[in-house]
Amino acid sequence: MADLEGFRRETRAWLEANCPAEMRQPIRDESDLCWGGRDPVFKSEAQRAWLEAMAARGWTVPDWPKEYGGGGLSAEETKILRQEMARIGAREPLYSFGISMLGPALLKYGTEAQKRHYLPPIARGEIRWCQGYSEPNAGSDLASLRTRAEDKGDHWLVNGQKIWTSYADKADWIFCLVRTDPSAPKHRGISFLLFDMKSPGVSTRPILLISGYSPFCETFFDNVKVPRQQVVGEVNKGWDVAKYLLGHEREMISGFGLGGASASLGARLGPALADDPLLRAQVARFDVDALAFRAMSERFIDELKAGRAHPAQPSMMKYAGTELNKARHELIVAAGGADALEWESERSDGGRAAREWLRTKANSIEGGTSEIQLAIVAKRILGLPGA
Ligand SMILES: Cc1cc2nc3c(=O)[nH]c(=O)nc-3n(C[C@H](O)[C@H](O)[C@H](O)COP(=O)(O)OP(=O)(O)OC[C@H]3O[C@@H](n4cnc5c(N)ncnc54)[C@H](O)[C@@H]3O)c2cc1C
Repeated sequence: MADLEGFRRETRAWLEANCPAEMRQPIRDESDLCWGGRDPVFKSEAQRAWLEAMAARGWTVPDWPKEYGGGGLSAEETKILRQEMARIGAREPLYSFGISMLGPALLKYGTEAQKRHYLPPIARGEIRWCQGYSEPNAGSDLASLRTRAEDKGDHWLVNGQKIWTSYADKADWIFCLVRTDPSAPKHRGISFLLFDMKSPGVSTRPILLISGYSPFCETFFDNVKVPRQQVVGEVNKGWDVAKYLLGHEREMISGFGLGGASASLGARLGPALADDPLLRAQVARFDVDALAFRAMSERFIDELKAGRAHPAQPSMMKYAGTELNKARHELIVAAGGADALEWESERSDGGRAAREWLRTKANSIEGGTSEIQLAIVAKRILGLPGA
């Protein structure tokens, strides 16, 4: 206990000294997020300095082992670091699918050589990853994927198409599900492959979203050669890796429900609610639900770190968190009235409320739809018969 108090004091002092004032401001839009990568784009010197300071301590991934670029912190220390960052409103230094998705899968299924090769650059934000799971005919029914990887001895030859690949046009590498045994039952012939997006034969085409942004792409593979050793886990057993990674993705997405560091929605909307008792009641109910979700989320993270979480729990959290985030933005738009629907004017902050509201519609689709999460909860947690 005394050690943890000491750790809290030191962490607080270090954050005070090293977190630039600009990095304590709330995130306003996508350009405030630091994604790192081979050719990183930093919005400001403060953003660069914050990433470098945190990465030098391994605190972009505080609970990963030190030998893989992490901070080597215990679960309790990691929690204290998060609390102390929240106390001063510190931003995440790095947003990364490498951290939230691939890293945990490599820690569990990677060889020692793969962990030493891939994890430290992820921790330092030097390689940006994208996720090649969905295909035009394989979304909810992901195991029907048809992108082929043929065994050519020293390499795999990959052909096929992915879709909805977030940031594929900006990513350096992809973690990708491919079919390596077309004759096996669909879940058994899949492998989990890593490769460079600059490999000859990889191309991307952006897709425009309803919010006006274009964060994701169609991704095409035309005779892409991938070195043999870049399979994670056993050949034809990639489905196990894929499912484990999805649990971490769903855990990450469930965090949208927390609504960032913002206090209660009632406090945020304040005056807009004064003349509207009905809306005020809805916001009060929302704030109670949000508090309950925050408590549930803390318990879930503790259980997860202690290895006591049910494997299907991320589905429950993802469903609850994304429904909550959608409700939050419905209320923000309702409180803003017609102004909140303005698309481009300065008065509406470039249509921020409307764009964020529309973006939340995707929360209950990305990472697996709400219907699929409910089916998983029904079958695996409640023990109801499958469809
Ligand atoms: C913002 C965003 C980012 C994304 N990023 C990525 C990414 O980086 N990489 C990647 O690989 N994918 C990504 N995706 C794709 C995402 O994983 C899929 O959209 C999702 O899995 C659903 O698949 P689908 O779009 O093919 O819909 P479908 O599977 O065709 O589903 C259509 C509808 O049918 C329902 N449905 C389907 N099957 C069932 C069933 N068995 N029971 C009940 N209802 C069912 C669904 O719930 C949905 O409402 C992203 C999606 C979004 C929206």
